[in-house]
Amino acid sequence: MSSDCIFCKISQHELPADIVYEDGDLIAFNDIGPQAPTHVLIIPKIHVPSVNELTEDNCDLVSKLVLRAKAIAGDRGLAEPGYRLVMNCNAEGGQTVFHIHLHLLGGRQLKGMG
Ligand code: 5GP
Ligand code: ZN
Repeated sequence: MSSDCIFCKISQHELPADIVYEDGDLIAFNDIGPQAPTHVLIIPKIHVPSVNELTEDNCDLVSKLVLRAKAIAGDRGLAEPGYRLVMNCNAEGGQTVFHIHLHLLGGRQLKGMG
């Protein structure tokens, strides 16, 4: 837990969010500024700032995020049409919240990466 991290506060229920899934390891909630009909953020409950801080010891959480994204996408009928998973890293990667998170985007035709 990082005391000034908004995603830690969401994961601890200290800030409100539209939560779509939660278990002991992770929490998923709707993005406050959705870029697609489905735009869910899946985050670990532990504070890892970015991909740069992943190690052999904590990288298992990434597969948990991806598998949960797959499950949410499947529940919403997105498996066959498809969806996008994005993890931004640091400023030039477009990261604005420094608590690692996976974006799940779907429900419309997504354009190329820019
Ligand atoms: P990043 O740019 O770091 O990859 O993604 C951060 C995402 O978090 C953005 O898409 C932004 O809209 C979302 N976001 C930022 N603050 C909040 C918040 O307080 N609540 C929710 N639900 N989403 C947020
Ligand atoms: Zn955090």
